[in-house]
Amino acid sequence: MKSLPIRIKITMWFTAAILVVIFFTYFIVFHVHHQIIQKTIRDNLIETVEHNVDEVEYYTNIEQPVASNETDYIRIYQNGYLEIDDDFLDQVNEVYTTLYNADMDFIYGENPIPGQSVEVDFADAKVQQVRVNGVLYYIFDRKLTAEGLKGLWLRGIVSEHQGADHMSDVIRLSLFFLPILAVFSAAGGYLLTKKMLSPIQAISGSASQIGSGNDLGRRIDLGPGEDELHQLAETFNEMFRRLEQSFEAERQFTSDVSHELRTPVSVILAQCEFSLEEQRSSEEYELALQTIKRQGRKMSRMICDMLDFTRLEMRTDSYVCEQVDMTELVESVCSDMALIQENGITLRCETENGICLHGNRELMTRLLTNLIGNAYRYGKENGHILVCLKRNGKEIELSVTDNGIGISKEDQTKIFRRFYQADSSRSGNGAGLGLSMVEQITKFHGGSIRLESEPGKGSVFILTFSDIL
Ligand code: ADP
Repeated sequence: MKSLPIRIKITMWFTAAILVVIFFTYFIVFHVHHQIIQKTIRDNLIETVEHNVDEVEYYTNIEQPVASNETDYIRIYQNGYLEIDDDFLDQVNEVYTTLYNADMDFIYGENPIPGQSVEVDFADAKVQQVRVNGVLYYIFDRKLTAEGLKGLWLRGIVSEHQGADHMSDVIRLSLFFLPILAVFSAAGGYLLTKKMLSPIQAISGSASQIGSGNDLGRRIDLGPGEDELHQLAETFNEMFRRLEQSFEAERQFTSDVSHELRTPVSVILAQCEFSLEEQRSSEEYELALQTIKRQGRKMSRMICDMLDFTRLEMRTDSYVCEQVDMTELVESVCSDMALIQENGITLRCETENGICLHGNRELMTRLLTNLIGNAYRYGKENGHILVCLKRNGKEIELSVTDNGIGISKEDQTKIFRRFYQADSSRSGNGAGLGLSMVEQITKFHGGSIRLESEPGKGSVFILTFSDIL
């Protein structure tokens, strides 16, 4: 059952449901119909017998009945004559009426049960039932009370089978059409389900082709439509789009990383070969080792930055967020970094009290260190740096201003890219990952970053975060 295709399962299910409904309908129709028929039979029986009550008369004088109608049945009864009118319905609609005396001796009429008298006591104006030879009969008796007729009984008898002939056309038609209807609806359901499910086959076909062929550029095309399956296809296409993007990003990242690592590795190898080629002076060895150390540091920082990048991009739980006292954090980082005093550059810090942010302390420290580090690196001799933390309406604004070399309009759009360096001569151990990291950390905290800069005059990096904890 589990291995059956969905369209077969659905068809089987609703065919079964239709059959249940049909059987239930049959049951109701037959039951109600039977009740109605039986009531009609009984009503018919009562009506016929009641009609016949007035058709039996008693006369003391023979001339009276003869004069009334020559076709009537007349017979001697006690001291007079019984006249059975020719309107007497002794057999109509299969209702048989018989006239008996009190001893149940037959006087006139018809009996529906040939050769058998019905041994049921008389009961005036009451429908009784009796089963003879497996057939159910309804009996209705009337005691005649007119002058001279006392002691006579009229008995009407009708078989329940009389109703069989009354089976309505609706029943006959339903018996014929309902099974045909069931077959038609099962076939229609199968075709409809097959048609409705065909887009799923198209989706699964495309998905497996994309999966097997690694062709992430492929999309599922179901044609125009807005139903659930088209929405599903659109969801799949969206997923493929994202997958394609992230594969592309990963490919780009891998290529960038290998490209960036190649240079320090080549430098290290070259220095090693140079040192081992022949006997070198101690100064030359020292210089080679200094270079190797610098390149090694550069690689180490790059690897650390790349790992942090991956953690940030994957948004894993490795960075736990908590309430960070930004005032305290900014002041502490600034007081540490003010000690650098590179190129006579001074660092000043202006903070508003009690500014807190829901975030990660380590990342926020990294963000600020990167920005201040850049301000030193790309600053002017005896220049100054200003770090400012304040509230701006419902937002927290953190800015790092320097009066350094500034950034050209063209470079302003590129410096947040990974490995991009506008001025590599000043970058030191940097690999062009610092600002990308700053942007990632800002995004991680739901903030935004903007840059205002003019070449030769300096730059200001402004970060904005939401103040809602
Ligand atoms: P790195 O400093 O390692 O080169 P970053 O991503 O931190 O990498 O910076 C990218 C580039 O942006 C730098 O190479 C530099 O050219 C430019 N830049 C960053 N900060 C400043 C600044 N405060 N003033 C001038 N240029 C800057």
